[in-house]
Amino acid sequence: TESLLEKSEKLALVGQMAAGIAHEIRNPLTSIKGFIQLFKSKYTSEEEYFNLVLSELERINLIIGEFLVLAKPTAIVFKDKDIKSLIKDVVTLINIQAIMNNVQIFVEFESDISMIVCEENQLKQVFINILKNAIEAMPNGGTIDLKVKAKEKDKVSICIIDQGSGIPEDRIPTLSEPFYTTKEKGTGLGLMISYKIIESHDGEIKISSKINEGTTVEVILPTIPQSH
Ligand code: ADP
Ligand code: MG
Repeated sequence: TESLLEKSEKLALVGQMAAGIAHEIRNPLTSIKGFIQLFKSKYTSEEEYFNLVLSELERINLIIGEFLVLAKPTAIVFKDKDIKSLIKDVVTLINIQAIMNNVQIFVEFESDISMIVCEENQLKQVFINILKNAIEAMPNGGTIDLKVKAKEKDKVSICIIDQGSGIPEDRIPTLSEPFYTTKEKGTGLGLMISYKIIESHDGEIKISSKINEGTTVEVILPTIPQSH
């Protein structure tokens, strides 16, 4: 069987390839989109067909956008960061979307020690993905509890708890795989990418869920050991 190292190396390679291909596809896609828009304004009797092509192009763009998170063209930089300030930034960013969907996010910080080493943009993307899923799981609104607390030795736990639709038990082990989605406009890539990013931070994602009651996603990350 494959060792953990072989597995993670393979994953990293797939990620780099996917991101490389995604970049290459995006440029021609943009020019195709431009031409379709031009044709649409010229051949107005065929407008509905052009709209169809445009919406399919938009879908390709969405899927590619998810892959690009894996490896930005800019260098990946791991830095010391306080997880609390990172979480605050993410919540500020996503709050507009939450409010528009009648969702309230409550944040609780229980831990004093929360310095981690991370690639800030990638880690933000993880919490955005998880919070987006939580919002989308509550189409009639509700609340999300986000709790940051110390865990065991030199670890911090970030729990995102929603009161949404829940995930069938037999689906939970497959969430780290690509393309599983129950959403009409979903890509099924958000969680796969989140798992990959957390893995590269030597962390863990744990998901527990109950149908019609809600889902808890726990992200566990190593903290910088305190010197006293
Ligand atoms: P997408 O959001 O594009 O469908 P994700 O990888 O983010 O892709 O999620 C995959 C699937 O996992 C979702 O379609 C949904 O069925 C399920 N899921 C993820 N998070 C939640 C959640 N908080 N509540 C209910 N279902 C969830
Ligand atoms: Mg998602």
